[in-house]
Amino acid sequence: MGHAIHPLLNQGITATSDDFAGGTLVCRCDANPVEVAVGSQVAHNHACGCTKCWKPDGALFSLVAVVPRDTVNVTRNADKLEVIDESAVIKRHACKECGTHMYGRIEDENHPFYGLDFIHPELFRENGWAAPEFAAFVSSIIESGTPPEEMSAIRQELRDMGLEPYDCLSPTLMDAIAAHTAQAA
Ligand SMILES: [Zn+2]
Ligand SMILES: [Zn+2]
Repeated sequence: MGHAIHPLLNQGITATSDDFAGGTLVCRCDANPVEVAVGSQVAHNHACGCTKCWKPDGALFSLVAVVPRDTVNVTRNADKLEVIDESAVIKRHACKECGTHMYGRIEDENHPFYGLDFIHPELFRENGWAAPEFAAFVSSIIESGTPPEEMSAIRQELRDMGLEPYDCLSPTLMDAIAAHTAQAA
């Protein structure tokens, strides 16, 4: 019996559609949900084990990806959104009622990921968003209570899902951060 990595990953993720060019993110409220229009396919979709990302109940990992911030627009019930931690680098805009994080935005123009918003693609009403490519911050799930002795089994389950486990971001993203830092220096 495997671990509750993430409900969609445990089910087997649906394949990407070449036609997908965005859709609507919907929070989990039964009435008057927050809706956020996204006008782009997602990039760098991955499973994330950090303690900050929004996860479905019982899941060890979130599913998180980025989209250009200028393609993200709150279209319904914007008054239900609040930034959960104003001191965080990523300002996570969450629904006050159901707690779902709708988008995370970086306001620091010097940040390597400035210009990209973090979203949870499982909140799309539509199918076809790019499948996850790797797993990030895997060791961080210990901080949220996973016994360390279960980690090798969990890393193997991630590999079996086609998600190479990393304890920070993927090499591609770590290289992009380092290149940004080198350029700024
Ligand atoms: Zn909600
Ligand atoms: Zn995370």
